[in-house]
Amino acid sequence: MSAARTRAATPEAAVPATAVLNDRGAERVRAGHPWVYAGEILGWEPAEPAPDARAPVRLRDRRARELGLADFSPHSQIRLRLLSRDPAARVDAAFFRQRLEQALAYRQRLVRGSDAYRLVAAEADGLPGLIVDRYAAALVVQTLTWPMAARQSELVAALEELLQPAVVVERNEVKVRQKEGLELRRGLLRGEAAAASQTEVAINGLRFQLDLLEGQKTGGFLDQRENWAAAAGYAAALGAQSALDVFTYQGGFALHLARHCPRVEAVDSSRPALEAAERNGERNRLGAIDWVEANAFDLLRDYDQNDRRFDVVVLDPPAFAKSRAALATAAAGYKEINLRALKLLNPGGLLVTCSCSHHLSEAHLLDILAAAARDARRELTLLERRGQACDHPVLLNVPETAYLKCIFAVAR
Ligand code: SAH
Repeated sequence: MSAARTRAATPEAAVPATAVLNDRGAERVRAGHPWVYAGEILGWEPAEPAPDARAPVRLRDRRARELGLADFSPHSQIRLRLLSRDPAARVDAAFFRQRLEQALAYRQRLVRGSDAYRLVAAEADGLPGLIVDRYAAALVVQTLTWPMAARQSELVAALEELLQPAVVVERNEVKVRQKEGLELRRGLLRGEAAAASQTEVAINGLRFQLDLLEGQKTGGFLDQRENWAAAAGYAAALGAQSALDVFTYQGGFALHLARHCPRVEAVDSSRPALEAAERNGERNRLGAIDWVEANAFDLLRDYDQNDRRFDVVVLDPPAFAKSRAALATAAAGYKEINLRALKLLNPGGLLVTCSCSHHLSEAHLLDILAAAARDARRELTLLERRGQACDHPVLLNVPETAYLKCIFAVAR
């Protein structure tokens, strides 16, 4: 191993390695985007960091102009992720602590009516690769890049100092970690497993019990929190009597709608999710919700053939387009469920239709919806275009941070 490599391998390295970027990489960073791809690095000075280095590297363009400091991911095609535009920044424990404090302060000012929210949303909080979800006294952590994984215990210690959580869970079984050469794992870092699997949160005046170890994602879909309330508000305004919540998971939309609609039916293919949803319904003394285990595609077709009708239909499928290549097939899937949902709606009924595929733009989803309305011979009035909750911030210069679309429309 060369002297330069040894030096770069220590976090406290006095002289960080410098990556010289090609014009394309430098332009993107200048335009406010934090990523540099492997092919955009022209060379290293004095030498490439060792694969186990977690010290940030300096970025320069071809004319030796400084662009800032970045995390280095030795195995990923996204090789560098900007941490600071200040080339003289000290990336140490105090740096990360300050970023965590800023992320917390932002949520404390903006999040309303919920003790569960995304506390750290990676790039959107200047902490690429780090996700932290807060569920009342519990935290769920994901470290999704090599350097963030390397400093995980340091970050958890900082979070513990800041928030004194009773439970800390890591949900690092997410596939993107493989691209970073990281193992997949999940487990309890602090506290009792029983507390983690029965964590109670209060969202919009409803109580939810979530399983942070076994539940999908990090236990819940916090990004839909504000849309649950919006759906309930529109259902009440329209005087809706019946609602169908398709892809309900633990009943986020269904429980909110049940406060206003006498008849609510909620569908999911996951039995554990439905069992948790039913317990949440009982916990909130919300009576008449039918929890149905079914494949949504089959159920929608079947209900259409049997002339079942509703005043509200919610569609919140998993991401059909996990990559750009899958977009065409995904679009057909979105079209099909939206067409069928429109057929189930009573005149004047509300459609709430979502997509969490980053690759499917809002404009594309609206096109699909317009085509579905044409085929269903329904006239659709757009009420509102919404996105992810405020604790999942969207950086305008980082399109990847915007992924959730939630369209509200009335079908005549
Ligand atoms: N609406 C929920 C989140 C839904 S996540 C909320 O607001 O919290 C997507 C859900 O779709 C998951 O619960 C998953 O189990 C379910 N799902 C995936 N494929 C399905 C299918 N073919 N039929 C029914 N449900 C499905």
